[in-house]
Amino acid sequence: MRHLPDLRVNAERLHNAMEKMADIGATPAGGVHRLALSAEDKEARDLLIAWLEDIGLEIIVDDMGNIFGKRPGKNNKLPPVLSGSHLDSAPNGGRFDGALGVLGTLEVLRTIHEKNVETERPIVIVNWTNEEGCRFHPAMAGSGVWSDRLDKKKIHDQRDSQGRIFIDELQKIGYKGTTPAKRFPVHAYFECHNEQGPVLVNGGKVIGVPRGIVGVRWKKVFLKGTANHAGTTPMNARKDALCAAAEMILKVNELPAKMGQDMVATVGEIDNFPNAVNVIPESVHFSIDLRCWNEDLIARAWDQLTTSLEKTARKRGCTFETKESMNLSRSSFNETLCDRLMEISQSLGYPALKMVSGAGHDAAYLAQIAPAAMIFVPSIGGQSHVESENTTWEDCEAGANVLLHGILASAMEK
Ligand SMILES: [Zn+2]
Repeated sequence: MRHLPDLRVNAERLHNAMEKMADIGATPAGGVHRLALSAEDKEARDLLIAWLEDIGLEIIVDDMGNIFGKRPGKNNKLPPVLSGSHLDSAPNGGRFDGALGVLGTLEVLRTIHEKNVETERPIVIVNWTNEEGCRFHPAMAGSGVWSDRLDKKKIHDQRDSQGRIFIDELQKIGYKGTTPAKRFPVHAYFECHNEQGPVLVNGGKVIGVPRGIVGVRWKKVFLKGTANHAGTTPMNARKDALCAAAEMILKVNELPAKMGQDMVATVGEIDNFPNAVNVIPESVHFSIDLRCWNEDLIARAWDQLTTSLEKTARKRGCTFETKESMNLSRSSFNETLCDRLMEISQSLGYPALKMVSGAGHDAAYLAQIAPAAMIFVPSIGGQSHVESENTTWEDCEAGANVLLHGILASAMEK
């Protein structure tokens, strides 16, 4: 075996594995449609397991369908290094999202298998079930149950839009394992992922190391005005709930510029009643999605926004109520691991950047029970959850090399 620091992944082998996986559920525009627990998900799992068996890993499937493949270390009493992501996709989603983390880890294991690298600790690859949460709510179900943060029975009983039950579908594809989905001690967790945003591309960087995942707050706003005839009601006598909503939506959009930092704010859902061409809108419901690394700032932003929305409602003669539908704390990744990944990137000659993740990942749950860190690679055009999602093969290779040395450093620790 060569000197360990000289070790690199096999870029062509990673590329081939990514292409083979992307054939499963391939869509005409170059994406993948591989919903959790679908026939395509089964096919992807079967292929992964065949690949894991090729390098002699011990396979464990738990009763959430999470797949683990274990490579022993010198001391198997020590908690392992865990690394992976997910093979399910969003509807007509991208071929890199999730797959890169699983197949990047596979490439790391193939590399150290081929070079007969002996690690102190075992290394375990994982494919988490239902990360996307598109077919069955919520997202990150496999890692959430495994980490003891979601209730297994509730997840097993979830139904998709066709009324099919999670546990039946899991059984149908043959992946309801016998091992209970339950966390085991983990020395370090790694997840390599495409960035899904434009920060790395705009900054001319190859590797992103997120400090953590931003806090997310969802609110529902319910506005009430008065319905009336669109032809006979004078303009100054209207209580138009949709006009009030229009002003409010712009206020939400302008909020991040006022608050500063990395805040983003979105109104993505709206219902208008009675939604008729000749009736003044009586009631409107819309959603607000507010995300920021600084959670105090989210709270302050929300207070300011509420005052401002109240003013708009008053001016428009409407009343309004709000209801919180989600409040997720930010998750922080392990500083030592993050610093180490930055150093590794530097020593491998990849320009790197510390950042935060605006999107959720399985690593968010893992960070709550073990030291965790992520490696981001650039998403061309900042696109994700779409068929055109893309990352260059060079950047995939870079991510896998950083993952390789991140995993090795942790796996060599006594
Ligand atoms: Zn993902």
